[in-house]
Amino acid sequence: MEEEAKPPLLRNRAKLVSVRPRLKQRDFACFRTARENEHAVTPPGTAMARKGNGDGRPDLLGLVPAELREVLRRHFHERGQPEFRAGQVERWVFHNDARGFGEMNDLPLGERDVLGAAFRLEEPATASVSVSRDGTVKHLWRLWDGELVESVLIPTRSRLTLCISSQAGCPLGCTFCATGWSGFRRQLTAGEIVAQFRASRRWARRRDMGEISNIVFMGMGEPLANPRAVLPSLTILNGGYRVGARRITVSTVGVVPGIRSLAERPEQFGLALSLHAPESGLRRELIPLEKRYPLAEVKAALERFRRVRGRRITLEYTMIRGLNDDLALIPALAGFARDTRAFVNLIPFNPIPYQPEWRPSAPGRVQAFRRKLEESGVAVMVREPRGRDIDAACGQLRASRLAVLTG
Ligand code: SAH
Ligand code: SF4
Repeated sequence: MEEEAKPPLLRNRAKLVSVRPRLKQRDFACFRTARENEHAVTPPGTAMARKGNGDGRPDLLGLVPAELREVLRRHFHERGQPEFRAGQVERWVFHNDARGFGEMNDLPLGERDVLGAAFRLEEPATASVSVSRDGTVKHLWRLWDGELVESVLIPTRSRLTLCISSQAGCPLGCTFCATGWSGFRRQLTAGEIVAQFRASRRWARRRDMGEISNIVFMGMGEPLANPRAVLPSLTILNGGYRVGARRITVSTVGVVPGIRSLAERPEQFGLALSLHAPESGLRRELIPLEKRYPLAEVKAALERFRRVRGRRITLEYTMIRGLNDDLALIPALAGFARDTRAFVNLIPFNPIPYQPEWRPSAPGRVQAFRRKLEESGVAVMVREPRGRDIDAACGQLRASRLAVLTG
């Protein structure tokens, strides 16, 4: 690209660098985990996923179906109880969304008490619920240690999509993202991820919103920076709660080992890459992780995912005025999309208080981007933001991002 065609980069960069959340070495510990997990196909629940809040009792919500069955079978065997009790509890967990053992009224009272002493079966408390004029519902969940995470239900004519969080905060500090600016608090456990689904499903059923048809990991956090919880949670949601793998999409900013792990799995989970810039230099300004996993490496991982899984990838492109919306970027963006055979979602940037000067691209520029991408042979869609009116009331997660993959 010609020098003069480059979009202006961060004008207030010095200021930015000084206020950007500092990433501590320990925040990157998750990547060691991701590397270790590189070839894991269905990783077993980890110590953290099992223990939940650390009181030592295994968290039944964080066990993959095979583990859950085995743990329960052993439990009832040791108690001299018939084996079918394991199936009864399993049904209460996966089908009836029981919130405690007390609800399991086809089990003897004494057995319910013993189960409660041996295992955990708890969901986070609801801290708040906001319902948008367009029907979008945002839940803020309070976890056992007081951490807050959000999930959002997005109804459309044909779907009910749930967007869930994978971390409290995020360690990756993308400069356009409110969650990134808020810093990293901690990893969620598999049980805490799955609990967002159960609690949201119960809420939706009670209000005749229908069944959750799709799940997107687009809430707070970077799912592939928490593979120890996210990979088992995929198995649980798919194998236990029976949400089709093709209806579950993991969104990543480009954690290469995590993309490889997903490619190795036998299920057909969906993958979305938060691209936001088709060139490494510009992308680095928006996504610090680009320094660790440069675009060329990410692209190779996507190509492999696409080859072995045969699933079309989505590229998310948040358009920020004057920053990544120069038409001169089209050839590189179209090339990236063609090489990875991906579908492009253009999303207007949702302003955040941390970047007061940043604005969404003008609607005319978004349409010009769309047209030019189409002319280059790329499948593209412009997504309208949902739940704008409840956005102001919420914490970190910004509703406009939910436009992705919900149409
Ligand atoms: N960490 C993962 C998933 C959570 S973010 C990821 O980054 O992909 C979900 C989506 O919201 C990402 O595409 C992200 O780039 C986008 N997003 C974050 N902040 C945004 C903002 N201010 N405006 C529009 N989209 C935003
Ligand atoms: Fe984390 Fe995604 Fe936000 Fe980047 S865009 S800071 S990876 S949540």
